Amino acid sequence: ALPVLAIIGRPNVGKSTLVNRIIGRREAVVEDKPGVTRDRVSYPAEWAGRRFTLVDTGGWEVDVAGMDAKVAEQAEVAIDQADAVIFVVDSSVGQTDTDEQVVRLLRRSGKPIILAANKVDGPGLEADAAALWGLGLGEPVGVSALHGRGIGDLLDAAMAVL
Ligand code: GDP
Ligand code: MG
Repeated sequence: ALPVLAIIGRPNVGKSTLVNRIIGRREAVVEDKPGVTRDRVSYPAEWAGRRFTLVDTGGWEVDVAGMDAKVAEQAEVAIDQADAVIFVVDSSVGQTDTDEQVVRLLRRSGKPIILAANKVDGPGLEADAAALWGLGLGEPVGVSALHGRGIGDLLDAAMAVL
């Protein structure tokens, strides 16, 4: 079977936008409000001549009270089934309690993790990405899933550990 690369992160950080960017098609559903990706969805993908399975995650309820637990639950299943993880954080928001919760899950898993600092839409926003060194996951890779910025570097980093 192909290696599995899972995209993990809070609702609305841009996971599905990133998936669409990587697969080069608009198949993953992108929404302005959280709670749209119903389940883990797999897509065949390829980078630098390597084929892999890309997994988009979601599936939590729009219910705000239950959201953190749902995010953690989804993340746990996806991490379990993945060979490597891209953890997406919204750099325009910065790290949240939920992000830190997911980082604990990621650490416990022992799986290789690439930290994607999304919504770095221009060079002036790189400082927002750098602030995410604070998560303790190593160098944040600044990307803009929306504009296609930094995606090559992100995938190079992911292929190095997948
Ligand atoms: P998901 O819930 O993590 O899958 O997030 P989505 O991919 O559905 O995106 C949530 C919102 O963030 C949408 O309005 C996207 O257009 C927006 N978004 C995603 N990536 C970027 C980005 O790189 N820059 C900006 N400015 N917005 C983004
Ligand atoms: Mg989504």
